[in-house]
Amino acid sequence: MGNQLRVLLLGSPGAGKGTQAELLASAADVPHISTGDMFRHAVAAGSAVGLAAAEFMERGALVPDDVTIGIVEERLRISDAGRGFVMDGFPRTAQQATAFDALLAKFGWKLDAAIEFAVPRAELLRRLTGRWTCPNCGVTYNLDSAPPLAAGVCDRCGTALVQRADDSEATVAIRLDVYERQTAPLLAYYRGAGSLLTIDGTKSVEVVHAAVMRGLASFAEAAS
Ligand code: AMP
Repeated sequence: MGNQLRVLLLGSPGAGKGTQAELLASAADVPHISTGDMFRHAVAAGSAVGLAAAEFMERGALVPDDVTIGIVEERLRISDAGRGFVMDGFPRTAQQATAFDALLAKFGWKLDAAIEFAVPRAELLRRLTGRWTCPNCGVTYNLDSAPPLAAGVCDRCGTALVQRADDSEATVAIRLDVYERQTAPLLAYYRGAGSLLTIDGTKSVEVVHAAVMRGLASFAEAAS
């Protein structure tokens, strides 16, 4: 696939957006832009954005739109985004979607697709509360479906695994509710614009990735 793929990934927390974003970005050779990762880095670095975001993230709420739209605009101004992007976790509100449309128009870019990963709530709960990550090399494990070989330790580098603070059971339930209330309505918005590609997110990572590639190819064919 050539450069200049421009897609955004929708789907509840735990639907597999991050994993699929990595695969798709590397297949298309475009940057993977994750607002969640940008906020986690900002919090770790103690920057002004991090200070503004931390309290919302801790309780599973969305960071205010003006802060979020600001970091996305700043990121899109970096030259590699001219090649295209896989946007992971943005937009998440109607106001962000409107601002994103305005940014695309400003840069003269067209969105190729909004990809939805559909996964039932019970499965999302199981995935999120069992999710552990290596703080050193970033590999994600799941106690249920993809456990590490030795309990609590990264297979690749031996570092002790950690759980994201917002993957605790109580916070996960809040994050899923926030998605239903604030982000799920965007599905209708992108469906109405003819850009929504819905993928069954319950299958294996490889099967989901193959379905994404097939779906994008048929979108591109229909658009040509
Ligand atoms: P994620 O890793 O995408 O689940 O994001 C982790 C947290 O970062 C979310 O629970 C929000 O607090 C914040 N966040 C990420 N993306 C956005 C966004 N587009 N709008 C508002 N908050 C966001």
